[in-house]
Amino acid sequence: MALPLLANVPGLAAPDELERLGDEIAALSAKVDVSLARLLRLIREFDDRRGWRNGFRSCADWLAWRVGLDQSAARERVRVARALAGLPRFAEALERGELSYAKVRALTRVATRETEARLLALGRTVTAAQAERIVRGWPPNGREADRAESRRRHAARALHVYTDERGMVVIQGRLDPEGGAILLQALTAAQDALHRRKPRRGPLSLISPAEPNPVQQRADALVMMAESALHHEVDPGTPAERYHVIIQVDASGESTLGDGTHVSAETSERLSCDASRTWIRYDEHGVPVEMGRKTRTIPPALRRALLHRDQVCRFPGCERRFVQAHHIRHWAHGGPTVLSNLVLLCRYHHRAVHEEGCQITPHENGVLTFHRPDGQAVLEAP
Ligand SMILES: [Zn+2]
Ligand SMILES: [Zn+2]
Repeated sequence: MALPLLANVPGLAAPDELERLGDEIAALSAKVDVSLARLLRLIREFDDRRGWRNGFRSCADWLAWRVGLDQSAARERVRVARALAGLPRFAEALERGELSYAKVRALTRVATRETEARLLALGRTVTAAQAERIVRGWPPNGREADRAESRRRHAARALHVYTDERGMVVIQGRLDPEGGAILLQALTAAQDALHRRKPRRGPLSLISPAEPNPVQQRADALVMMAESALHHEVDPGTPAERYHVIIQVDASGESTLGDGTHVSAETSERLSCDASRTWIRYDEHGVPVEMGRKTRTIPPALRRALLHRDQVCRFPGCERRFVQAHHIRHWAHGGPTVLSNLVLLCRYHHRAVHEEGCQITPHENGVLTFHRPDGQAVLEAP
């Protein structure tokens, strides 16, 4: 293609020439998307007919090998190809070059037969980045689906650490939204601390290495977090100090974390059980109508009393020392923040109580009975 090189130099090219260049980019991008639509159709057919079953574990594995895509891109291609089978309008819009692949990729993550038309209309009016944000805050259908999604996300958590051939330690992981929020908060805090510590620029800076770039700063922050964890013997501190979660609640009662990630009603109750937090409640027009800040933090004296009484997680047989205070009757349902309504639970059992249907029954003498989701009591000592 013979495009005039002059077009790269601002001020030298005629405006209509640049206009044409821009049009050509747009037209070609649409064509790439049209080809991609065809490619996805072929992938779907190949997958339906199990063409990859000649030594590969999945269609994505085969695709990664055959065309040199990286694993996650290959998986995403296969996912979109399968999703489009049930979403004919999206398939058509992509084929006609009306909706970019980036938007289709994002919106097919949540689209169903029922919401397809609505999401397609929306896709035409927003940018790809906005589509991504909408998808992250999209409430799954119904509370059961909500809980199931929350369980799936929690189950998908992982951290892989390995040493590569140059001796670099490579970290790759996936956290649920809540764990991710804590990590990001800690990284930001560590980055700020490193920044404050940085010496003033003096003559030495002439021979000192270059300023670390943002990703290097983040790496330094992670190492600093590790150092400080070891220094404090991995003491997570009180939950109220270590975590401040912003929860947004819309008019219909759906909750999202501050970054727009949707969380289930149960998760949002757990997060607010023992944490400094900010509540922002919106009306149906998206206007903030109510804001609460750190309203139900457990006072330090009460927390000390609670720690003295329970010491470790109270779930039978659990001795974990990283604990959170749980309101047996949640404060949102009128439960008071007093010793008799509080119990220490580790993160795992706190989640079990809020999200997995475990029950705690308090008795008059301070004894607690724990019940499994199926109603069976968990004995202190079997
Ligand atoms: Zn709780
Ligand atoms: Zn526990």
